[in-house]
Amino acid sequence: MLTIGVLKEPGKETRVSLNPDIAASFVKNNIKVLLEADAGAKAFHSNQQYEGAGVQIANRSEILTQNDILLSINLPDHETLNNLKPGSVIIGVFQPLFHVAKMEELAKKDITLFSLDMLPRTTRAQAMDVLSSQANIAGYKAVLLAANVFPRYFPMFMTAAGSIPPAKMLILGAGVAGLQAVATARRLGCVVDVFDTRPAVKEEVMSLGAKFVEVEGAADASKAGGYAVEQSEDFQQRQKAKIAEHAAKADVIITTAQIPGRKAPILITKEMIANMKAGSVIIDLAAFSGGNTDFTKDNETIVENGVTIIGDSALYATAPSDASKMYSKNIQNFLKLIIDKDGQLNLNFEDDLVKGACIAHEGKIVNERVAGMLQAV
Ligand code: NAD
Repeated sequence: MLTIGVLKEPGKETRVSLNPDIAASFVKNNIKVLLEADAGAKAFHSNQQYEGAGVQIANRSEILTQNDILLSINLPDHETLNNLKPGSVIIGVFQPLFHVAKMEELAKKDITLFSLDMLPRTTRAQAMDVLSSQANIAGYKAVLLAANVFPRYFPMFMTAAGSIPPAKMLILGAGVAGLQAVATARRLGCVVDVFDTRPAVKEEVMSLGAKFVEVEGAADASKAGGYAVEQSEDFQQRQKAKIAEHAAKADVIITTAQIPGRKAPILITKEMIANMKAGSVIIDLAAFSGGNTDFTKDNETIVENGVTIIGDSALYATAPSDASKMYSKNIQNFLKLIIDKDGQLNLNFEDDLVKGACIAHEGKIVNERVAGMLQAV
C-alpha cells in the first residue's frame, strides 16, 4: 500500500499541504496517509478531524521511515532531509531557482524532488498550479490590507455631509495576484490603473473595469512559458516615466511584478515616493525577491515621506484554511499524474508536467532551468 506522509510546516507558516477532505479521498483509494501531529492546527484542522478522515497521526520519524511520498509546502529542515527514506518522492514549493546550490545538494540523495512552482504555465497545468491558487488569495488580501491602512474611504460617497472621491489605485503587474487585486479593488469602488509588460493582459484588465496603461516596445515573453522576462534599458526608462506620472496621483499602489529566478524589477523609485501624497499606501507582493520599490523589506512596514510601504510575499498565509484547501486540491491533481489506477507510484517523465516540475531524480538535477542556472554559477 502506498504511503503519503504530511509534515508540519516550519516557522510561521500557517498552511498545511493536505486538508482532511482531500486526505479522506486518498484513504478511500487505499492509500495510507500519515500526518505529523498538529500539522493542520494553524489552518484550523484538528488531529481529530484528520483521524475522522482515516488519517493516522504520527511523529516525524515514523513518517520519514514509512512514506513513499512526502508532502510539504516549504523545504523541510536539514535534519528531515537527511533522514528521508531512500527512494522517496518529496513534493512542495521549494523555489529552486532561488536555491540552486541547495537543490544540487539534495539531488545527491536518493530521492525524487518535485517543486510545483516549476510546473509549466499551460492549460492542463492549471488544476495543479499552486502559484495561481495562492497568488489569488494574496491579490485579494493585498487590497483588504491596503483598505485598512489607507486613512480614507475607498468608494465614492455623496452625502449631505459632503462628497468623498473614490480612491485611485495603481496596480503594477497583472498576473494572477494583480488581476485578483483589480477585481477586489473595483468591488470596493476604487478607480484602477494597471501596468504590465505583457500586452496580452490588456483585455482582461479592461473587462474588470480598470484602465490598462500601455508602454510600447516590451520584450517578447511568449517563449518564456508564460512568465515575464527582463526588459531593455530603453523600455525601462519609458515605463518609469509613465509609472511616475501615475504614482504621483495614486492613493494606493499594489506591486506584483516578478521574474522567475531573478531579483524583482524596481518600478517605484525613491524619487517617485518623494512625489507621492502623504497617507498613500504601497503593498509590495514581490517583497520575497527584493520588492518593486527602492524601500521594500519583506515582512516589514516602512513609512517614507508619509507613504506606508508594506512588503509581504506571503499574504495567502492570512487565509490559511482556504489557502490549504486550494493547495491540497492542487496536490491531489498533481498526484493523479504520478499515481496509477492501481495506487502505485508511476513516474512518467514523458509527461511535460511531471518532467517540468521534477527538480531531482536518481541522484541528478533533471530540471533544465535549474541545471542551466547551476552551469551559469
Ligand atoms: P508573476 O507573479 O510571475 O508576475 C506578475 C506579473 O508581473 C506578470 O503579469 C508579469 O508580466 C508582470 N511583470 C513582470 N515584470 C514587469 C515589469 N517590469 N513591469 C510591469 N509588469 C511586470 O505572474 P503570475 O501571476 O505567476 O503569471 C505569470 C504568467 O503565467 C501570466 O502570463 C499568466 O497568465 C500565466 N499563467 C498561466 C497559468 C496556467 O495556464 N497554468 C496559470 C497562471 C498564470
